[in-house]
Amino acid sequence: MTYRLLLLSTTTGYQLRSFGEAAGELGIDLVFATDRCHTLDDPWRDGAIAVRFHEEEAAVEAIAAAAADRPLNGIIAVGDRPVVLAARAAAALGLPGNSPDAAAASANKRISRERLGRAGLRVPGILPLTTSADIQEIAGAVRYPVVIKPVALSGSRGVIRADSPRELAEAFRRVSALLARPEIRAQRSGLEDQLLIESFIAGHEYAIEGVLTRGRFSPFAIFDKPDPLDGPFFEERIYVTPPPLPEAAQQAILDSVQRAATALGLVHGPVHAECRVNADGVHVLEVAARPIGGLCSHVLRFQDGEAVRSLEHVLLVHACGGDISRFSREPAASAVMMIPIPARGVFRTVTGEDEARAVPFVEDLRITAKRDHLLEPLPEAGSYLGFIFARAPEASQAEAAVRDAHARLVFTITPAIDVRPEHVARST
Ligand code: ADP
Ligand code: CA
Repeated sequence: MTYRLLLLSTTTGYQLRSFGEAAGELGIDLVFATDRCHTLDDPWRDGAIAVRFHEEEAAVEAIAAAAADRPLNGIIAVGDRPVVLAARAAAALGLPGNSPDAAAASANKRISRERLGRAGLRVPGILPLTTSADIQEIAGAVRYPVVIKPVALSGSRGVIRADSPRELAEAFRRVSALLARPEIRAQRSGLEDQLLIESFIAGHEYAIEGVLTRGRFSPFAIFDKPDPLDGPFFEERIYVTPPPLPEAAQQAILDSVQRAATALGLVHGPVHAECRVNADGVHVLEVAARPIGGLCSHVLRFQDGEAVRSLEHVLLVHACGGDISRFSREPAASAVMMIPIPARGVFRTVTGEDEARAVPFVEDLRITAKRDHLLEPLPEAGSYLGFIFARAPEASQAEAAVRDAHARLVFTITPAIDVRPEHVARST
């Protein structure tokens, strides 16, 4: 029998190509649903289902109608935005998935905190507020340091640490301005005016990748984030696995992720979680019901007997209800650097690529930023200049290799010319 899976995604990028390749290896028929049909590359142009992620009712109907012609065996959400729709479509079609309630909870930082706290997990203190709150009054009353963040963005967008009332008021204005942007309002999450202030949790951060099967969490890897993430912004830089942690500490992290997933009600499919560890123990910051995004997934590679498989391959097998216990992460240590955007500006050139590629243990370098395009760093926008991958016998070697390669790259970024409304008004 041929399995058919639905892939829900807001982007049309690298990861979809990896899913396409994996589907080819497995003989799986992939159907694609996106809000970007006009930019689709083959091989999906014909069969793609056009959806709007914020019109969930209509989107579920479109998916159900398509599934009536071409029955589906499973659904995978790629990226944060389709997570709730994927859950609703799975529920409507009677396919394995998370409940819409659990998916929505995982995508809402306030509800996540409340559920984790109720389940007895360590969580930061939280203060929900809206963009119309009286920040002066609040800023005078909270205990510092804190982190302020939007309830429903991702990728650390709008997440800012504040150490004083003045910094908090400034951060509040900055996050509010971000949430007022047309491209954010266009997503119509319904949560565009909701913010959260949290107590800052000092500690070392880890990311955890895995899948849930009937509620049970099977980890693929724990990633160390070796660069300190102390703010004021929280840009991800390096992921390296295995982490330099004793077995018991790794198990404590995995146990916490399992408890957090259960507390949210997540039961099925890919999971990307983040936690901070300090002397008090493990604090789960987030459990997202989707895989690690984009090109970054190349940091994971699996053995399947003699064959080497991608994360996407393993996820497709899982989504078809297959047994994935035969896949194990490769023995090599692996690292990825998400090349940070040093400053707001227009990306012009990069040199040193050959030298970077020649660094021992470096396997791949991809510059993904588009030339002559405006780049914006966090906290407003979170993309990267590109990615550097390394594999080595030891994690420390893989980490050193991506740092070394990065040091050989020179990016030219020229200042952006801002056209302010008053300038436009004057010239008309
Ligand atoms: P997003 O979903 O946008 O990634 P998160 O809430 O996961 O937002 O926060 C992004 C990053 O900001 C985290 O990975 C962490 O490094 C930092 N961070 C967020 N909340 C806290 C907190 N309460 N204490 C310390 N660091 C935090
Ligand atoms: Ca996060």
